[in-house]
Amino acid sequence: MKINVLKGMYDVLPEEVVFWQFIEKTVRETAALFGYGEIRTPILERTELFKRGSGIGTDIVKKEMYIFEDRGGRSVTLRPEGTPSVVRAYLQSGVTSQGEIAKLFYIAPMFRYEKPQKGRFRQHVQFGAECFGIKNPAIDAEMIIFLLTIYARLGLKGFVLELNNVGCGKKECRESVRKGIKDFVSGKTNSMCDDCKLRLEENPLRILDCKKEGCIEILSGFEGTDSLACESCRSYYKELKDLLSANAMPFVENSRLVRGLDYYTAVVFEVTASGLGSQNAIGGGGRYDNMVKELGGPDVPAVGFGAGIERVIMALKSQCPDFPVSTATDVFVVYQGEKALKKVLFILNTLRLKLNISAKAAFGKSMKAQMRTANKLKSKYCIIVGDEEINKGVFKLKNMESGEEKEITENNLKSIRQLFRGKNE
Ligand SMILES: [Zn+2]
Ligand SMILES: [Zn+2]
Repeated sequence: MKINVLKGMYDVLPEEVVFWQFIEKTVRETAALFGYGEIRTPILERTELFKRGSGIGTDIVKKEMYIFEDRGGRSVTLRPEGTPSVVRAYLQSGVTSQGEIAKLFYIAPMFRYEKPQKGRFRQHVQFGAECFGIKNPAIDAEMIIFLLTIYARLGLKGFVLELNNVGCGKKECRESVRKGIKDFVSGKTNSMCDDCKLRLEENPLRILDCKKEGCIEILSGFEGTDSLACESCRSYYKELKDLLSANAMPFVENSRLVRGLDYYTAVVFEVTASGLGSQNAIGGGGRYDNMVKELGGPDVPAVGFGAGIERVIMALKSQCPDFPVSTATDVFVVYQGEKALKKVLFILNTLRLKLNISAKAAFGKSMKAQMRTANKLKSKYCIIVGDEEINKGVFKLKNMESGEEKEITENNLKSIRQLFRGKNE
């Protein structure tokens, strides 16, 4: 009998793996720019870690974890989300005792036993980042900019940043938010879904997250969690918004945004993308100042994000049929004379940014050396820019395989795209 892959799991075949490599590479490169070091933690952890870290009240812990007993009789769990494992590793490595700041990122598979649906799998891969040891709106802003930079560098368009303050870790603050929600829905609880009736007692914040129509209806006109929160986290949240605005980072405030985890303190954020239908969240995160302590460490503040790679691939595919950008060199731009450099950059930008064609050049090298490099990189085409060509606004296009040459005008560079038809489609 043939054995198939488990329900909710999938193989990544060679033609699909280029998407993954492209995203992984982009995440690693961007993380390096932002000063984050990669961490790799085991897939298997003690069940206790997620019960305490993710929170026993969450759907993840209550219904979705792959839990089993190992041969030594320990209860172990396949990692359902990244943050608790990173916190554990951070504590275990001992850096906290020196009060050092740690900036870590990961790319790792997560396991959740949930109903498979579009863009949701039982094994899915996330990239994420955590920063320990700083509580300042600037680091929250940096974390958000880090995530958005990854999306931008992937070529994703039309993504929207949503923000909310769900109330900080202080008891009075948390209680005020809970009470505010409870008061708002009191008298209307009959038309709530069964899950929300339970949430009302366990964690009223979760009601805001409910996608059932009746529950959404009940909450219409709800003034939002930020207005119920304490003065200190409200002003923290406001500072973050000011910082984002000052750095031309557009955002939308979503007073219902709570994310699927209970550990967030004050700031939460989520990024949505077009082309995904109703399940349009592609990543998000927030501040979680209590988790390090709850997992047995000192009082260390933390902020982080996580993003599912499968959803990002779906969004990119739906937006850009030419995705992903190939790592092979399609066109090599050869030039003569320093005057030509401006044109070289123009051509490179047009090819890379507008036409999604990989392009290279060797600046500051002789013509001969440039041609040598073009050959070494097995470039498919060369565009040759000389003094004469600049004046005419015409370049030479050389097919490196056949040796055939033809002229191409500056205004008609986009016709090169036809030469790569079928590629990456
Ligand atoms: Zn507060
Ligand atoms: Zn509900």
